Amino acid sequence: MAAVMPTPARRNLLDLDETGLRAFFAELGEKPFRATQVLKWIHQQGVDDFEAMTNLGKGLRARLAEVAEIRAPEVEAAHHSADGTIKWLLRLDSGNAIEMVYIPEADRATLCVSSQVGCALDCSFCSTAQQGFNRNLTTAEIIGQIWRANRELGVVPAAERRISNIVLMGMGEPLLNFDNVVRAIGLMLDDNAYGLSKRRVTLSTSGVVPALDRLREVADVALAVSLHAPDDELRNELVPLNRKYPIAELLAACRRYVDAQSHRATITFEYVMLDGINDSPAHARALLRLLRGLPSKVNLIPFNPFPETRYRCSPPSRMAAFQQILIDGGIITITRRTRGEDIDAACGQLAGAVNDRTRRRLRRAQTSVPLSGMVGGQQQES
Ligand code: SAH
Repeated sequence: MAAVMPTPARRNLLDLDETGLRAFFAELGEKPFRATQVLKWIHQQGVDDFEAMTNLGKGLRARLAEVAEIRAPEVEAAHHSADGTIKWLLRLDSGNAIEMVYIPEADRATLCVSSQVGCALDCSFCSTAQQGFNRNLTTAEIIGQIWRANRELGVVPAAERRISNIVLMGMGEPLLNFDNVVRAIGLMLDDNAYGLSKRRVTLSTSGVVPALDRLREVADVALAVSLHAPDDELRNELVPLNRKYPIAELLAACRRYVDAQSHRATITFEYVMLDGINDSPAHARALLRLLRGLPSKVNLIPFNPFPETRYRCSPPSRMAAFQQILIDGGIITITRRTRGEDIDAACGQLAGAVNDRTRRRLRRAQTSVPLSGMVGGQQQES
C-alpha cells in the first residue's frame, strides 16, 4: 500500500521579517527582492491573497498559494466604547483568545497589543494574572494584531496610517517571549512594513533584568517599566517577579538601557494607584529618591477593578498629592486617563480566554472554598 504523505503545513508569512522572507524566497529559488515586494503587500496593503500581488508572476503566485499563507488572528468580538476606544477579542487555537485595544486621541492613535496568552507573572492587582498562562504568541500572532486592526479600521489599502503608536502593554510579559516579540518589533519599525519610529513603539515590562539587557542590544524602542512600589518588601507582594530581580538590579538595568539608546531617552515608570497600599506621601518621596538621577517619567495609573479583586483605586485627592510630590521633585508625572472603562478595556482588565495550563484558577477556586465543604479535594454538593 502506498504511504499517504501528510500535506506539509503552509508557511504563515506573517511569521517572517524581511530576513526570514529572503531566506524563504531563496528556498523557492526566487530572487531576494521578492521579500521586499511581498512584505509591502502584506503589511502596507493589508493583502492576504497572493492573487492580489500583481507585481509577482502568475506562476509564483500559484506556487505561493500552495506553500504559504497570510493568516492573522480572527476577530471574535468587538466592543466599542463611548470614548472611541475599541477592544477586540481575537480568536486563536484550542479555545484561546487574546485582547487588543485601539485608543484614539486628538494627536495620535495607539494600539495596545498582547504578547502572550495569559501571563505567568501573577501580579496581584492584574486581571490577566487571574486567567493563568497558556503559551507565548507567535510573531504572526503579535504582528497579526496590527495587520488585523488596520483591516478592521478600514486603513488598508489606503495610504493613510491610522495607528501612530504601538504599546506592548496588553496581555502577557513581552520580555518572556523575547524572540517573537523582537521579530515583531522589527516589522513595526521596518519601512517596508509599518515604518513606525522607534519612539512610537513602547515595550512595557515588569522587569525581567537579563532580557532587558539583551533587548538593549537588539532593539532601540521606548521602555516602560511597571514599578508600582518604591521598596522591595511591597513590590515583592505586588509584582512577585521582584523576588528574582529586586528594585536595585532593575534600576541598574534601566540605567544601562537609557545609556545605550541613540536618542535622549527617558524611561517611563508605571505606578498603579492602590488605595491604602502604595499611595501615601511617604511612598511618593521614596519613589522620588529612587529615581533621582535616572532620566525618567512617571505614569500614575488609576487602578482598574475587576471581579474578585481585593484592591480599590486611590481617591483622586491622594493621587493628586502623590503626583504633586513627584512634580515638585522635578519628575514629569502624569495621571493616565482611563480609557474604554465602559467596555473593560483599561490597563489590567484584559482577560481574553485563556486555556490555563498553570491550573492557577483551579487552585484559587479551591482555596476560596471553605475547608468544611471539601471532601478529598472535591467540593461537596449541598
Ligand atoms: N507585563 C507587562 C505588560 C502588561 S501590563 C508589564 O507588567 O508591564 C500593562 C500595564 O498595566 C502594567 O503597568 C501593569 O502593571 C498595569 N496594570 C495591570 N493591572 C492593572 C489594573 N488592574 N489597573 C491598572 N493598571 C494595571
